[in-house]
Amino acid sequence: MDGTVNQGTCLKLSGFTAGRGVRKRTPGQSVFPKTLFSDSLRSRRRELKTPSTLIIGGGIVGLATARQLLRQHPGADVTVLEKEPAPGQHQTAHNSGVLHCGLYYTPGSLKARLAVEGIREMAEFCAEHKVPHEICGKLVVATNDAEVARMDKLFKRGQANGLEGIEKLNRDQMREIEPHIGGLAALKVPQEGIVDYIAVTTALVKNIEKMGGKVVTNARATGFREGSEWTVETPAGDFSADWIINCAGLHCDRVSQLAGQKRDLRIVPFRGEYFRLKPESQHLVRHLIYPVPDSQFPFLGVHFTRLINGGIEAGPNAVLAFAREGYRKTNLNLRDLFDALTYSGLWRFAFKYPKMCVNELRGSFSKKYFCKQLQKLVPEIQPSDLEPGGAGVRAQAMSPEGDLVQDFHFARGTRALHVLNAPSPAATASLAIGTEIINQLEFN
Ligand SMILES: Cc1cc2nc3c(=O)[nH]c(=O)nc-3n(C[C@H](O)[C@H](O)[C@H](O)COP(=O)(O)OP(=O)(O)OC[C@H]3O[C@@H](n4cnc5c(N)ncnc54)[C@H](O)[C@@H]3O)c2cc1C
Repeated sequence: MDGTVNQGTCLKLSGFTAGRGVRKRTPGQSVFPKTLFSDSLRSRRRELKTPSTLIIGGGIVGLATARQLLRQHPGADVTVLEKEPAPGQHQTAHNSGVLHCGLYYTPGSLKARLAVEGIREMAEFCAEHKVPHEICGKLVVATNDAEVARMDKLFKRGQANGLEGIEKLNRDQMREIEPHIGGLAALKVPQEGIVDYIAVTTALVKNIEKMGGKVVTNARATGFREGSEWTVETPAGDFSADWIINCAGLHCDRVSQLAGQKRDLRIVPFRGEYFRLKPESQHLVRHLIYPVPDSQFPFLGVHFTRLINGGIEAGPNAVLAFAREGYRKTNLNLRDLFDALTYSGLWRFAFKYPKMCVNELRGSFSKKYFCKQLQKLVPEIQPSDLEPGGAGVRAQAMSPEGDLVQDFHFARGTRALHVLNAPSPAATASLAIGTEIINQLEFN
């Protein structure tokens, strides 16, 4: 990460300065000297100016929201608080690097709308800020008659979501694009692409700081006090502002609870593990090859992804992670595991879908089984073509009834907005999600 990120000590300790609403206070210092700022003066200030805003979480969603806020309200006082030494270290840095265009999502859902808007905005952002990306297109492959029927529905869904240029291909046509592909038929989705999301994060931070916003690292939000404004406690000091926006990804449910919300939904962390194709096997895949998704589990189904910085990834699967930020099988966080295992929703989910849970676990422990899933897409692939890749952990919200929350989900509190479900394609859609959040607030 570049050196422009503020390291916790960047903000003045002097309290309120004209036009700068977010202030850092030394621990123990009062939020506002009562004699200087009466409640009526504070509310008058709120009426006149864009409220100052603290964004908790410097992943791609928090940063994109800060940027959109500063663009819509130039001069607004915006500070992003990130717990790690650098922004974008979790889901933003551990994903497939795909620009999704909105093919899969229920027409009318936030995901459908924000993916379609978001990929356009993200491609423009990348072009403007010289972030490596490529609109290379993808193939969605149907490998049996049932999948062909689902693929036809997907084609209609893509059209309903406003995608142009999607095409149904027969075997010969799809092999012209991907010579080693298996299956009966495919959908060609020309709008999809690949991108370096870490480079997007770096560009977002620079852009935010250029517009006068701040990104403070090593600043884990550990406590919230709500008065006439919010005060957020962090190891880098206390910060105060009119509004808070919770974009804490894998910890968003806990942050919302700390800020006084009832924790109705719980984040259940699902680790996704990848293999990489060995250099001598990379000729087997040219672009992006995906299976037809199961509508109940849209995030399931291993796929092949060409990475923007070179190499081909295969995966990910989905298994319960024993730590919310655990990227290895052996990572264990007792609090996270206790949280998951004592949640009735998770047990209901496991009883509803035992076959799916067992199959995903099998793929985690057996390379041969993982490879079998990949062979449906590219029959020539052998276990010997694969070497271990990385892993990511999805922040998936689950209801107490054991249902996965499918759409993006926001909850409103008093001068607060909590992003409680932002799984894939939230990286692609992050700029559009930022705009949606700003529009849902009462700033205008
Ligand atoms: C395996 C995998 C593959 C994926 N593939 C794709 C893809 O190809 N395309 C796509 O569009 N999407 C993809 N996604 C989804 C995408 O990565 C996420 O939707 C997106 O990164 C979410 O961003 P975020 O900012 O909400 O979360 P994060 O990136 O996790 O950021 C949250 C931030 O909040 C910080 N934080 C947490 N708690 C606190 C606290 N108390 N105080 C301060 N800071 C805090 C964390 O440190 C973190 O930096 C994938 C996800 C996974 C896991």
